[in-house]
Amino acid sequence: MLEQARQLLQSYFGYSDFRMGQERAIHSVLERRNTLCVMPTGGGKSICYQVPALLLPGTTIVISPLISLMKDQVDTLLQLGISATFINSSISSSEAYKRLNGAKDGRYKLLYIAPERLEVQEFIEELHHMDIPLVAVDEAHCISQWGHDFRPSYRRILQMVQGLPNEPVVLALTATATPIVRKDICQSLMIDVNNEIITGFARSNLSFSVIKGQDRYAFLKEYIKKNANEAGIIYAATRKTVDQLYAKLAGENIPVARYHAGMHDQERIDEQEQFLQDKKTVMIATSAFGMGIDKSNIRYVLHYQLPKNMESYYQEAGRAGRDGLESECIVLFSQQDVQIQRFLIEQSIDPGRIQSELEKLRSMVDYCHTEECLQDYILHYFGEQEGRPCGKCGNCTDTRNSVDMTKETQMVLSCMIRMGQRFGKNLIAQVLTGSRNKKVIEFGFHRLPTYGLLQNRSSKEISDFIEFLITQEIIGIAQGSFPTLFVTAKGKNVLLGKENVMRKEAVQVKVISNEDPLFEELRSMRRSLAEREGVPPFVIFSDTSLKDMCVKLPLTKNEFLQVSGVGEHKLKKYGEEFLSIIVDFCESHPDRKPEEESIMVVETARPAKKVMKDSHLITFEMYQEHQSVKEIAKKRNLSTNTIENHLILCSEQGSEINLMAEISEDYLSLLQAAVEKVGVEKLKPIKEQLPNEVTYFMIKIYLSSLKKDKVH
Ligand code: ADP
Ligand code: ZN
Repeated sequence: MLEQARQLLQSYFGYSDFRMGQERAIHSVLERRNTLCVMPTGGGKSICYQVPALLLPGTTIVISPLISLMKDQVDTLLQLGISATFINSSISSSEAYKRLNGAKDGRYKLLYIAPERLEVQEFIEELHHMDIPLVAVDEAHCISQWGHDFRPSYRRILQMVQGLPNEPVVLALTATATPIVRKDICQSLMIDVNNEIITGFARSNLSFSVIKGQDRYAFLKEYIKKNANEAGIIYAATRKTVDQLYAKLAGENIPVARYHAGMHDQERIDEQEQFLQDKKTVMIATSAFGMGIDKSNIRYVLHYQLPKNMESYYQEAGRAGRDGLESECIVLFSQQDVQIQRFLIEQSIDPGRIQSELEKLRSMVDYCHTEECLQDYILHYFGEQEGRPCGKCGNCTDTRNSVDMTKETQMVLSCMIRMGQRFGKNLIAQVLTGSRNKKVIEFGFHRLPTYGLLQNRSSKEISDFIEFLITQEIIGIAQGSFPTLFVTAKGKNVLLGKENVMRKEAVQVKVISNEDPLFEELRSMRRSLAEREGVPPFVIFSDTSLKDMCVKLPLTKNEFLQVSGVGEHKLKKYGEEFLSIIVDFCESHPDRKPEEESIMVVETARPAKKVMKDSHLITFEMYQEHQSVKEIAKKRNLSTNTIENHLILCSEQGSEINLMAEISEDYLSLLQAAVEKVGVEKLKPIKEQLPNEVTYFMIKIYLSSLKKDKVH
């Protein structure tokens, strides 16, 4: 059965292997065991019930609380050539009846329903006339009162299942479940604790970072502009900030959408739609946005203001990178936000919970201040004891230099003291830079000895520096009718020369993914097909699939099938459109080659292409000068793979080049044995036969030498 499952994974979904946990979950379901599957967002939970649904006779029922998601989920399945439908409050009762009858006739492999349907006795009775092998319970934490999203209707699931004629298997799925919630799920659905499949909380494709003491808006703007082609969400704490950012960024000609509870329903829906359809790349929103959004190609989530706790943060940040591609999650930290959040908690929550909410806020602030690995901090917070640095978060990769700012700090602090510690950062900055502002003169601050002490800096720079000193708790904020700044005990130590102040250089804005003109062409084709089909672009192909096309450069239908996420149905539907783009691109970019290991052996099997220009000869010359492949690649700004292919081409064209020298004697016999065993069709199986030290380059050289032998 599992072998069959793998074949279906390939032919329908276009994936060659199951991910961690998927196989175990499917195996468990096929053995007819009720099962709980806990996987992080983007881990691939849906495959766990969709593949069994294809294997088992009858219609699998999927219970999901996210009505807004159902249509996308069903559309995704239809695009894969799998029959599916949904029943929820968004359709009329006659339509629901029609779909139900269809299900009774066995016309659907999957039927999605909202949990509230289980409250309706007639509906349950209809289910009795259906052949139901499996009930999948999505967002299974909703069954628990201890969870963060309790849905009473979920409590009826077991009763419904037990009432059905051939008691179906139950598969519960969730991304967030503390031990107590897991226990509750298992008890409520009769799942044996031994049938829990848990693959951990980590999202290895997300890089976390925190930006402090930098101009937030400037960072944000630069970030969006540098990553203009990528979709991202900007979360802000209040509607007002959302509106302000929206206006400012729209004024910069950035295609922004916005979303908050104060907008009209229709406007909100339209904005969301534009974002989902990739028509607007940036969504600015309050935390009201995101529930029930499964747009998979969100490349970054920026928090313009501090989230209220780690739970909300991880949930919101987790909307990035559901397709498994590298994505960024950044908090733009400012000390003032702590006050705002504290105020919101004290105002809105019932008194009994204030203390625990403030503690949660404290953990969120600690996250922003920790110098340890951020991913590790998160896992720790959620009770996982991994304890290994991720190697990619802002802290793990921080190589910035620190600059001694003790003198400047002392200037700022003494100026504040002379001004009476009664003002905000802007006026302090103006005095320090020697501004002739009316207020400065009125208060007589132009006569202070600290006036103009930092006149070679802009007042914006000084404000940012003060902001930095606030995050260092050298300056404190006193709340009054308006916030004023004072020198803290730590600040006094700095003034007395007992403590130094070191400041790191500003964090540079990163580009998440490299520009690739082919990717852009494929993306735009995807957008027009999505429009034609009336579905969001990520339903046609995920970014992962487009990236894989760029790596593998398929030129034939067979090669196209090797792309991750391309099953037979999608090949038929979209193969030609995408292939024609790739073929054209390869013709006009003869230097561009598939990356190693991705597809079959050197050129032979591929259709004839235009001969490379002289690029390979330049490589050849450099190689003759005893430069290594790596060096050449770096100097020529090409991939090592391209350089290797150049050299092989030179050798095949008869240039004076002895690539066999790259392979040590000992490996030759191993290579020969490997090729005898697995053939010459693909590189990867050959590689797997050999010790790690034998590189793909060596394999390609060896295969090329075989070809030459045949010719001669
Ligand atoms: P979840 O529901 O756990 O958040 P999804 O089921 O939406 O995750 O899957 C996330 C992404 O991973 C989807 O784009 C899906 O197609 C992809 N995916 C799932 N399983 C595999 C697999 N075995 N190989 C490659 N990609 C997969
Ligand atoms: Zn880290």
